[in-house]
Amino acid sequence: MNSSLKLFSVRGIDIRVHLTFPLILVWAAFQFGVLGGGGLAGAMFGIISISLLFVLVTLHELGHSFAALHYGVPVERIVLLPIGGVAQLGHMPDNPKQEFVIALAGPAVNVALAILMGGAALLFGLSLTNPLTSGVSLTIGAIFSYIFFYNVILAVFNMIPAFPMDGGRVLRAVLAMRLDYGRSTQIAAGIGRTLALLFGIYGLFNGQFFSVLIAIFIFTGATQEARMVQFRQRLRGYTVQQAYSNQVPVLQPADSLREVVNWTARGQTDFPVAQFGTYVGFLGSERLMRALQHNGPDQSVASVMAKDVEPVTLTTDLFDVQQRFAREKLGALPVVEYGRIVGIISSRHIRHMLRMAAMRPELFPRVRSA
Ligand code: ZN
Repeated sequence: MNSSLKLFSVRGIDIRVHLTFPLILVWAAFQFGVLGGGGLAGAMFGIISISLLFVLVTLHELGHSFAALHYGVPVERIVLLPIGGVAQLGHMPDNPKQEFVIALAGPAVNVALAILMGGAALLFGLSLTNPLTSGVSLTIGAIFSYIFFYNVILAVFNMIPAFPMDGGRVLRAVLAMRLDYGRSTQIAAGIGRTLALLFGIYGLFNGQFFSVLIAIFIFTGATQEARMVQFRQRLRGYTVQQAYSNQVPVLQPADSLREVVNWTARGQTDFPVAQFGTYVGFLGSERLMRALQHNGPDQSVASVMAKDVEPVTLTTDLFDVQQRFAREKLGALPVVEYGRIVGIISSRHIRHMLRMAAMRPELFPRVRSA
């Protein structure tokens, strides 16, 4: 989070630039000022035209973001990196139709802008020349051309059917409307990796450093997404009962953080809070650290605990638990039965259970849901 700087915010979404972002501006200045022989004017031109490109990238990411908000998916921030922008969503919807719309909304913004620019150019009799060949100029016509071509490039490039590009997500969503979600992800990721490999080899043989970088980005992105989905699919049918721990200290609202720290020294990191045995809140490790750092150890548990963490029950599916870990950025969740704390479940418990289930599947029967 500290690796980026906030520029401004739109509808509660922070637009941030990554600390490596100025590299692309330096590159553009060098490209047009030194290599292109444009001198100071060329360098300025490079910086302005690349900045313009990133304004369009931001609009593209806002397209994704507004579609996500429409479906109630929270958008945490948009980060601009030298190789493009990322809209960080609270979670990706598993609903293929929603993923389809969210993924398509970004490129749709660029298509709309390209049509608008092309139409306006026709109306005013401006000629749209390819800015990559027309050289250094910043006339009104050239700016129209830039916006037009950049939008076309952004739309086409992002619709390449390679995970984690928008085209790859659209492809997965379309497949998932007919096939199983996990299977669809494997297919889309396989296509993504193959295209990335071809693109990378092409870049390598043509000395295009940027293409190689993008190929690596796509390849690792496809691999990560496939692995994450596969992991979650493996959890389906297992319940909290099979993995949770009932050995957990339960805090009282009046306890001080000083007492909690004693427990952390014994390996406990996340704590349910109960009053007269009834669940009232949750104190996760991140929250505990932040409270200790800002206001010290003499605060009460009641003043720092999260009151909005919905507990899980013994029959909750582990797939849903894992989804909530990702969605709520928690490492553990409280387990209750009839409102009473019975334990805690963490990603460590889940991984441990999966390892044992792999060795002795007969000891961990899956509940077959419909
Ligand atoms: Zn996109």
